[in-house]
Amino acid sequence: SSSIFAAVEMAPRDPILGLTEAFNADTRATKVNLGVGVYYDENGKLPLLGAVKAAEKVRLEAAPARGYQPIEGLAAYNQAVQNLVFGANSAVVRENRVITFEALGGTGALKVGADYLKRLLPYAKLIISDPSWENHRALFEGAGFTVDTYTYFDPATRGVNFAGMKASLNALPAGSIVLLHACCHNPTGADLTAAQWKEVVEIVKARDLVPFVDMAYQGFAEGIEPDGIAPRLFADAGLDMFVSSSFSKSFSLYGERVGALSIVAASKDEAARVLSQVKRVIRTNYSNPPTHGGAIVAAVLSSPELRQQWEGELAGMRDRIRAMRTGLVDKLKARKVAQDFSFIARQRGMFSYTGLTVDQVERLMSEFGIYAVSTGRVCMAALNSRNIDYVADAIAAVLKA
Ligand code: PLP
Repeated sequence: SSSIFAAVEMAPRDPILGLTEAFNADTRATKVNLGVGVYYDENGKLPLLGAVKAAEKVRLEAAPARGYQPIEGLAAYNQAVQNLVFGANSAVVRENRVITFEALGGTGALKVGADYLKRLLPYAKLIISDPSWENHRALFEGAGFTVDTYTYFDPATRGVNFAGMKASLNALPAGSIVLLHACCHNPTGADLTAAQWKEVVEIVKARDLVPFVDMAYQGFAEGIEPDGIAPRLFADAGLDMFVSSSFSKSFSLYGERVGALSIVAASKDEAARVLSQVKRVIRTNYSNPPTHGGAIVAAVLSSPELRQQWEGELAGMRDRIRAMRTGLVDKLKARKVAQDFSFIARQRGMFSYTGLTVDQVERLMSEFGIYAVSTGRVCMAALNSRNIDYVADAIAAVLKA
């Protein structure tokens, strides 16, 4: 008899991991990997934040035993997350209408939310932006949803096609779930303005849609509070909602898998019942979250000194990305390229949809050892003062020829 695996096909490779493998194998000293999805510092290194290091030192010295956590995770962590997402004085927090679950990164939070939503609203359609983070579609389809897209990116301005987005949202059946990026849209870098968010909230409310806000970059655009505008406006409008948070980037804690799912309900009683149901989803999946990452984030956020240190380090990452954005715009201009790249400085967060074509991206790789995603997405946080001139030279070269 043949193996049960005999007919298994090879799954397609993750395109970004494939890019990293090709980059690692490249022997050119000048090579640059703009395809990554992480924040690198000025030295091209993944940082370990000082606030994290300090909190870890304290935890190491305390040497706590490693018992199980509650299903929903560490209470101090979940409270700190709510304060970051909604503000400590927000009505939803004060009225105990928001419940939060420590989750395995932003991805884990999305997955717990997706699994619970499938039980709650089994026939709802789910829509994501066009384009969106490459894992959104697969994750929600994996949870059993039919996934559609709403108009989002405008290739002409390399900003948001807001009229198109509104038309998409207005055409949705009531009860549809709308996945929205809170800020630093991945992959485009194109975000809504505060005024546009207010309009989106009005449409979501008027059409009885269910907002699911993915907040993977809080603090990377403008700061903690301004980047939280979407969940705060939805909360102020009295809407039920889901929010996934990730601290992978903002605490540079990628591998520790620190995220959270928050759910806002109409009353404290409703929230308590939803809590009991989401706990069942978690219990039958991974039972309860790991201890370390959440404990570190909670320690940083609840210590005034460490919190201040973290906010300073977060601002440092944000400002460095901004400097790379304006730097690249200026350097391309100085190289007299025909195209206007000023949109790069208007986009926010780690990524930019540059408009570079598949052929241009291919030439960047083959001729210059500069690696980017074939969609033209580049990671601005992979630039630094030593490689930015080389990158600008290379882009100018592939644009001209
Ligand atoms: N959502 C978006 C929009 C992201 O860009 C990412 C990470 O790249 C995630 C979610 C996942 O975050 P995590 O790595 O914490 O699972």
